[in-house]
Parts: sequence; C-alpha cells; structure tokens
Amino acid sequence: MKILFYDTKRYDKDSFTGELANYPDVEVKFLKADLTKNTAELSHGYDAVCAFVNSDIGTRTVEILHQCGIRLILMRCAGFNNVDLAMVEKCGIRILRVPGYSPEAVAEHAMGLALTVNRRLHKSYIKVRENDFSLGSLMGFNFYEKTAGIVGTGKIGAAMVRICHGFGMKVLAYDVYENPSLTGIAQYVSLEELLSQSDLVSLHCPLTDHTYHLINRDTIRKMKDGVILVNTSRGALVKTEDLIEGIRARKFFGVGLDVYEEETPNVFEDRSDEILEHSVTARLLSFPNVMITSHQGFFTREALSAIAQTTLGNVRTFENGEESPNEVKAG
Ligand code: NAD
Repeated sequence: MKILFYDTKRYDKDSFTGELANYPDVEVKFLKADLTKNTAELSHGYDAVCAFVNSDIGTRTVEILHQCGIRLILMRCAGFNNVDLAMVEKCGIRILRVPGYSPEAVAEHAMGLALTVNRRLHKSYIKVRENDFSLGSLMGFNFYEKTAGIVGTGKIGAAMVRICHGFGMKVLAYDVYENPSLTGIAQYVSLEELLSQSDLVSLHCPLTDHTYHLINRDTIRKMKDGVILVNTSRGALVKTEDLIEGIRARKFFGVGLDVYEEETPNVFEDRSDEILEHSVTARLLSFPNVMITSHQGFFTREALSAIAQTTLGNVRTFENGEESPNEVKAG
C-alpha cells in the first residue's frame, strides 16, 4: 500500500513515522502541499491519499484522484465538511476518518480560550512583559455558579460539559440527540433557552447545512449581554460579519476562536512577513476581548499519537475489505 500524505508538517512526520514501524508493508511519502484540485495529480502511482482539515476535496479534486487510481482517502481528522462525498461514492473511493482522537484535547483548549478571554490573560501576558503591573482592564468574572451552554454534546461537547461541571457551573446543553452519559450533569434545553441563559456558550456541533451560520445576528440577539462565546468546532458555524457587529455593540464579554471562516489560507502557516489584505481576521484581532488561535485544539501529544494509530488502523481495515465505523458515507 502506497500512501501520499498531503499538508504534512514536522510533527505529522514524527507521529506517523513512529507508528509506521508497525506497518512494514505501508509505504508513505510526506508532502508539504495541501490536497486541492491543483495538487491531486501528484497522487498518480499511489493507492491512497491522506488529507487534513483544510484540504479542498471538492468535485474536481475527487475526479482527479479517481483518474490517478486512488482507492482510499484517509482523513487524519474528525471533520469531513471539505469533501464532496457524493462524488467520492460515485468514483467508488472509500473514505475513512478519525472520528475521535482526544476529545479532551479540544475541550481543554475550549476552556483555555474561555478562561483567557474572561481573565484577559492574553492582555496580561503582554502588559507584565512591558513592566506594566497595573490591573486596569483585566477584571473578569467567576465561572463558578455561572451557566455554561454547550451546543453539540458528542465526544468533545461531552468532555466540555464535564469540564464546566467541574468548575461548578450549571450546564445547559443543546443537541439533536441527547447524550445519556451526561444525565445529572447537564440539562437539555432548546437552543433559544440555552442562548438566553448562558454566560458561556461553547460550540461543539459539526458544520452541516443545518449548522452553517448557526450564530448570526438573530441568535446573537438572543444571547445574554456580556456572554463569552467560544468556537473550537468549525469557523462557518459563526457568521463573522454578524459576530463583529455584536462585538461592536458590546454584546460579548469575550470571544475565543480556534476556528474562523477565513482561516483556510492561514492555518498552520507562518504569514508573519505578509501584509494581509481584506482580512476580517485582522478586524477580529483588533478587539481587546477577542482571542484567536489557529486550529490548535487537537494539538496535543496524546491526540497526534491517537490520530496516527487510527489512520494506520484504517489502512488495515481497507486492505482487509472490512466494514468500519470510521467510514464516511454520503447522505
Ligand atoms: P461528534 O460527532 O462526537 O459530536 C457532534 C455532536 O453534534 C453530535 O452529538 C451531534 O448530534 C451534534 N449535532 C449535529 N447536528 C447538530 C445541530 N444541528 N445542532 C446541535 N447539535 C448537533 O463530534 P466531536 O468529535 O465532538 O467533534 C465536534 C466538532 O469539533 C467536529 O465536527 C469538528 O468540526 C470539531 N473539531 C475541532 C477540532 C479542533 O482542533 N479545533 C478538532 C476536532 C474536531
């Protein structure tokens, strides 16, 4: 089995190279370039490609992969909103993902963002480095006995529920399905009720047609004044223009984003020497109560090692022609 890995960084190579020792029949080439319709042709001569969150696996990319003889797409992540699944199915390609590698990695980062914007840690870090030991503008509020609203209570959302519960917060939850493991620590309510009562709203549902721009002018209006919003799920859950309008209207005490709509050209790239034009990211960063990280929620030792293990396990599943719960299907 020959696999072409796209969009690889040093840490991908390290985590996969360690695990590959257990798969002597698997041959791998690591590419820096991401998978798009312009780079798909490089897969000629390989059996599988391995892609990541911001790969563009749209109709044309899948067509080219198919022409190049690719039979398997390995997503080394949970999300697959960047894949034309109907086209993948039409081409007879199998697609396997890593549905959960370390939900706690993302949930802990979500709480990290919430705490940072609440206690203005991103500001105090810089102030103290400049010998400014004053407390002006750093006042936050206790999470203890406040209300957390968790939207989406799958693996990551459930981990976030447990963390918020541990902080002594009352936890409200909204999901299309209730998670029985959360009985007694979270109370399921409608989205409207969650938004109107929560001091901290954290998004953990996937990006679908139903959740696209879930947070918009209308839903922002329903939130409590002085709310903290955290998004570690997918950027397009939040309509950025409306978020900026809400921030300007002083609706939010703080906003913590690990993902945002404009992230694709930025994610995992050093663009510090560039002048970014037409950037809403820059506008978001201009607000003192906004903290942005660059899709790093998953980035822990434990998660990277689990991603490598599951991805190579998916290769075995494919080679054995077995069914798998990690398979992504259209519809
Ligand atoms: P999951 O599938 O275990 O849970 C998703 C939950 O969302 C499910 O309970 C589902 O019922 C619910 N849901 C679906 N549609 C909904 C809707 N319309 N309204 C409310 N809830 C809805 O997934 P997970 O492993 O918990 O991951 C959640 C998301 O986190 C992923 O989709 C991915 O986008 C994101 N993620 C981000 C990072 C990161 O590094 N920032 C890493 C991994 C995953």
